[in-house]
Amino acid sequence: MFLKGKTAIVTGSTSGIGLAMARALAVKGATIVINGFGDAEAIERERSNLAILNGGEARYDPADMTKPDEIAAMVDRTAEEFGAVDIIVNNAGIQHVAPIEDFPVDTFNAIIAINMASAWHMMRAAVPHMKKRGWGRIISTASAHSLVASPNKSAYVMAKHAIAGLTKTVALETATHGITVNCISPGYVWTPLVEQQIPDTMSSRGMTREQVMNDVLLAAQPTKEFVTAEQVAAFTLYLCREDAKAITGANISMDGGWTAA
Ligand code: NAD
Repeated sequence: MFLKGKTAIVTGSTSGIGLAMARALAVKGATIVINGFGDAEAIERERSNLAILNGGEARYDPADMTKPDEIAAMVDRTAEEFGAVDIIVNNAGIQHVAPIEDFPVDTFNAIIAINMASAWHMMRAAVPHMKKRGWGRIISTASAHSLVASPNKSAYVMAKHAIAGLTKTVALETATHGITVNCISPGYVWTPLVEQQIPDTMSSRGMTREQVMNDVLLAAQPTKEFVTAEQVAAFTLYLCREDAKAITGANISMDGGWTAA
């Protein structure tokens, strides 16, 4: 329970990687604020499960990551209610697959807001609370697409490359305050986000479902295995340890060797 007494906000934690991260942090005692969209009853079930896991408190905050005011309000509400914002995980994200000339502008704007700008707004709001306590952990879910590109993902690749740059910059700004700022770059993790891009990739590349799985998704990963959400969550937890305090400004790949190629 090394996170007892710490409060963590995980954006986009009603599903997939974020939910696994919230559970991992809760198991080690952190008070948790979950965020994201979905079925109200399922979210409430998960919130109460998190409060059982941490033996304390868990709250759901519906802040929309496209809305800077709602992001700042979530951070301030958390500080007011729990007395601190010690850990933020910038994880909310969406995907859309289309060639640039067919890419809808509204979808581009949404990806930039949710996958990229929301991390900046989260950090801007949370850093003063962390500085006050002289301790903080900022972790963003980037992607192998923060390091390399794939066709038809212009907005996503742009947003994820920016997360790596933001991570380095804020790490430098906070380095003497007991705050570390890192991003984790998974390869393909089997979550609803990946499942949902299969039909688009099938139509944009004229492939069958099996071809997309084997020739597109796992083609990139030398291990030929999906990364698991639990593996990403375990590394998130490691970054919160005192042992990890020398790791800051890093972009850590968990991609089955994808970006080694
Ligand atoms: P997911 O679809 O399972 O979860 C996405 C979460 O973001 C959900 O909780 C959703 O409700 C939330 N969300 C979406 N729009 C939001 C908004 N406007 N405001 C607040 N929350 C919002 O996806 P996932 O695969 O778990 O992805 C999580 C993160 O991991 C994303 O940033 C994604 O880019 C990144 N990632 C995923 C993979 C992968 O292969 N799945 C690989 C690398 C990086």
